[in-house]
Amino acid sequence: MSVSVDPVELTDRVKREARRLGFDLVGVTDPEPPPHLDVFERWLEAGRHGEMDYLSTERSLRRRADPRRILPECESILVVGANCLPGPAQNRDDSARIAAYARGEDYHAVLVERLRRLVAFIQEQTGLKDLPHRIYTDTGPLLERELAQRAGLGWIGKNTCLINPTRGSHFLLAEVMLAIRLVPDSPYPADRCGSCTRCIAACPTECILPNRTLDATRCISYLTIELKGAIPAELRSSMGDWVFGCDVCQEVCPWNVRFSRPTRDPAFQPTPALANPRPQDFLNLHPTGWRARLRGTTLLRAKRTGLVRNASVVAGNRASQEMVQPLAAVLGGDPDPVVRAHAAWGLGRIGGSGARKALLEAQTSEQDPEALIEIATALRALEDAANERARSA
Ligand code: SF4
Ligand code: SF4
Repeated sequence: MSVSVDPVELTDRVKREARRLGFDLVGVTDPEPPPHLDVFERWLEAGRHGEMDYLSTERSLRRRADPRRILPECESILVVGANCLPGPAQNRDDSARIAAYARGEDYHAVLVERLRRLVAFIQEQTGLKDLPHRIYTDTGPLLERELAQRAGLGWIGKNTCLINPTRGSHFLLAEVMLAIRLVPDSPYPADRCGSCTRCIAACPTECILPNRTLDATRCISYLTIELKGAIPAELRSSMGDWVFGCDVCQEVCPWNVRFSRPTRDPAFQPTPALANPRPQDFLNLHPTGWRARLRGTTLLRAKRTGLVRNASVVAGNRASQEMVQPLAAVLGGDPDPVVRAHAAWGLGRIGGSGARKALLEAQTSEQDPEALIEIATALRALEDAANERARSA
């Protein structure tokens, strides 16, 4: 669409307004088809997306292959990034860990609201009240990190994050497709990971692949948020303290160590419930009251079942007797068999007479076959450990 404002001037004003609205990174690119779509398609073909079927529908693939299939009139894509690293880090040893981006308000709501205000500003500046546009956070059919690289905001690191050379990677990305021409930025020209492999070495589940993709089926972010059923037993101990998401590959990245700074944005400061929660705070999420407790946060996405399941794994990884009673309560009373199965696993990891007693009691009343298998496996693990101790005594 043609507008009377000079595109250079308009682009400048839009970028300034985006910064005023709280976006730390702002860039513009064109809506040309993404050149590296084949990497994404091979990733899907290999089944690395796990249960995230929405990524592989025919409609979503067609739209990803050409942004103009989403908005035929699109002439520019504005790509923005909001620093989401909360001020106070989780600082208690007994905290269950939550990914930095998820400790404040639900970023979807925050970013969409800000982008609506940005679009209103553009409409006012151009006089185009019905300006065709689309707003996306990470929910849309766009390869957003690739767009961000094309908009000059940074490069895609080996950990698959967009890394900005002066700000690091703790950003939430969002896009606005617009039916007007803004002046595109030059793509970010370099890959500055160089010979570094710190994220690959640090990833607890070894899921970072050599082609800058992840095996999402092993990634803790996927396991704790997207996966709905049982977490594969061989990956549970690698989850450590992560109850929602994982930041390990970002925390070790030298670009974050050097440049990343906490945001002052009130929206991304930890909500009281998520400042330093303990595993017990998730283990006792009430079947009806849990939503109210986590209202307004991204954690709702994992649902109560996912959060109690994850907390059961974290409690097991703590291997502390303090966790036995809360886990026993989950094993004996949670309505979901997947959750009870993970509580049994946690008790098997912790061991001791209290854990054994809770498992034996549950074995007499449990009806679910999968949960019964987990209980039997946990009891066997306790027996093996006792035999081992007896042998070495
Ligand atoms: Fe590995 Fe965690 Fe990064 Fe996933 S988020 S790739 S599990 S370090
Ligand atoms: Fe790149 Fe090293 Fe950062 Fe990984 S840790 S993303 S390899 S710079």
